[in-house]
Amino acid sequence: MSQSFQINTAAVIGAGTMGRGIAICLANAGVNVLWVDNNQEMLDAAIKYAADTYAHNVRQGRMDEAEAATRLERIQKAANYQAISDVDLVIEAVYENLELKQKIFRELDSLLKPSAILASNTSALDIDAIAAVTGRQEQVLGLHFFSPAHIMKLLEIVRGAKTSRAVLDASLDLGKRMGKVSVVSGNCPGFIGNRMLKTYVYEARSMLLEGAFPHQVDSALQGFGFAMGPFRMYDVVGIDLEWRARELSGQGKDEPTIQLDTRLCEMERFGQKNGKGFYVYEAGSRQAQHDPLVDALVVQVSEELGYTRRAIDEQEILERCLLALVNEGAKILEEGIAESARDVDLVYLNGYGFPADKGGPLAWADSQGMASICARLKDLAARHGNHWQPAAIIERLASENRLLADV
Ligand code: NAD
Repeated sequence: MSQSFQINTAAVIGAGTMGRGIAICLANAGVNVLWVDNNQEMLDAAIKYAADTYAHNVRQGRMDEAEAATRLERIQKAANYQAISDVDLVIEAVYENLELKQKIFRELDSLLKPSAILASNTSALDIDAIAAVTGRQEQVLGLHFFSPAHIMKLLEIVRGAKTSRAVLDASLDLGKRMGKVSVVSGNCPGFIGNRMLKTYVYEARSMLLEGAFPHQVDSALQGFGFAMGPFRMYDVVGIDLEWRARELSGQGKDEPTIQLDTRLCEMERFGQKNGKGFYVYEAGSRQAQHDPLVDALVVQVSEELGYTRRAIDEQEILERCLLALVNEGAKILEEGIAESARDVDLVYLNGYGFPADKGGPLAWADSQGMASICARLKDLAARHGNHWQPAAIIERLASENRLLADV
């Protein structure tokens, strides 16, 4: 008999950007939250953030004061892990560092009641490596929220090799209570969404080196219907996040496609947070304005790397960015990381601003026909290298005259 899990109480570890949104989501779903951060000032600021968020909701007419007070009361500070030993679920949202997360999971495993579920909000770390330090691997999983967590609809529920069905079911139920669109993903670097994003951004950055400009790439993709092109997205997220990770780990620093990002960060152009990145922003404004200085830097970096620049048109930008998403999405389906093409699409629609009227990257691919997609990928492979070889599933479906939605 498999055990069933009820989630009525939870603890959130970490009161930074993600912990804040996650605590609010849980409180909104009627879950009592105990909050731990080893930085007391962060925790106090986070409680204030929750109070301000609910006050804002009241001003907007989304809830009355009594409801806001009830939700806010559900969120309480906790002094240490001993104080959270009785919760049904822990969601960890500390820095993205495997050793740190393993240390926390090891400690939680020794203190929490046997039925507690342990989740990590990691963006890309190996859930199995985190689960492995516990004696309850079937009760460990990823709950990957998107920023800001109390606003973004998507929740990737990452199943480890040993995560039990009952734990996934309890997480899906919690996702529903929080009003999320939940998608179960297998455990692989980047899970569904960030794994696809990586291939798309790689193409966008490559085209800058080959001859395009950030505003041109963004406007082509926004013209297709994306909420934001990749470079505007980086300005919102912060160009420096990946740069700092590379500087810290010393890994990936020589990759040609990130040299422009590195140069922008060295010039302290981090994005919206300090008013300049791929674009410039007037004080207090989020309106991205074209900056000729960035275009000059793009030309300089690509020439330094030995590229002979050529004109790149809107058609090529769309073809390469969209087909990168399609090919990686198809591989994710083929490997069983996603359970269906629809799940891949739900991730991209709800977490990455893909135009809703196109149904998601794989529905868009189906609308083009598998034979067309397969031929276009082979054409890209001939011109731009082997990483464009079509996923085996695309070749098979094209030859059978079937669609990704049929899988
Ligand atoms: P953050 O730096 O804003 O916050 C991290 C918090 O963890 C800080 O308040 C810090 O004091 C606290 N902390 C550090 N060590 C601790 C410990 N040992 N015990 C208790 N608290 C500790 O980080 P963030 O952006 O909220 O990211 C948290 C996690 O969520 C990371 O794994 C990140 O990859 C992931 N994530 C981030 C985003 C995003 O857009 N920021 C999106 C999805 C997932």
